[in-house]
Amino acid sequence: MNRQLIVAGNWKMNKNLMEAFTLASGVLAKAKKMSNKVEIVLAPPAPYLHTINSMSKNIAHVNIAAQNCHFEPSGAYTGEVSAEILHSMDIAYVILGHSERRKYFQENHEILAKKVSAAIRAGVKIIFCCGEPLEVRESNTQESFVLQQLEESLFHLSETEMKQVVVAYEPIWAIGTGKTASPAQAQDMHAFIRTQVATKYTTELADACSILYGGSCKPSNAAELFAEKDVDGALVGGASLKAEDFLQIIQARAKQA
Ligand code: PEP
Repeated sequence: MNRQLIVAGNWKMNKNLMEAFTLASGVLAKAKKMSNKVEIVLAPPAPYLHTINSMSKNIAHVNIAAQNCHFEPSGAYTGEVSAEILHSMDIAYVILGHSERRKYFQENHEILAKKVSAAIRAGVKIIFCCGEPLEVRESNTQESFVLQQLEESLFHLSETEMKQVVVAYEPIWAIGTGKTASPAQAQDMHAFIRTQVATKYTTELADACSILYGGSCKPSNAAELFAEKDVDGALVGGASLKAEDFLQIIQARAKQA
């Protein structure tokens, strides 16, 4: 397998400055000694991006992600951060399409397509989240739901641009609920996503595209998820807020590298 293995921690709107510093220090101190086969990505709240990026600069397999960006490069958009600003700060990734952004900030397919283009334009890589709500899973229409998310917000990218994208499959019913998709459910959807990428682009690109699982991933279930052949890593919410738990998930990924 020639895909990058990745474990990313989405801190969301958590941790004050001192707590963020403590968490980042705890993760980085151990990360330094860990296998460089697993790329570690930390997505702290925006005000901490610069400091935590500086703290991680000497560890090549650690990168930093923003949790959002605006689609315009600059201008009168009070409170917003552009992909160009992130790039100027040397931030490697931006998370786009997270279900919380879709739900609480009305980010629809069209807005997300513009944000995806903006990140590519600025040279910031993307962790693109997709995933279905419970009622869609219960009606067994999750594949067409996820395909629409990909088609309407991501698949306008060229083949070269698509190489800058990591996909995160995050079933909404598993986010922050303690309910994890079974390894088989995750594998089925990851394989489906990979097939769609192959159909739209090429098999080579699909084979090289990292697809992460997100949704109550924790030390107790990480290994079984990572045992699935199309699960290349995880986007972790709650469990990324405790250094020890997050590090255990990284270890689980490294063991199966
Ligand atoms: C997330 O919000 O990206 C996520 C996966 O959260 P949690 O791990 O808490 O379910």
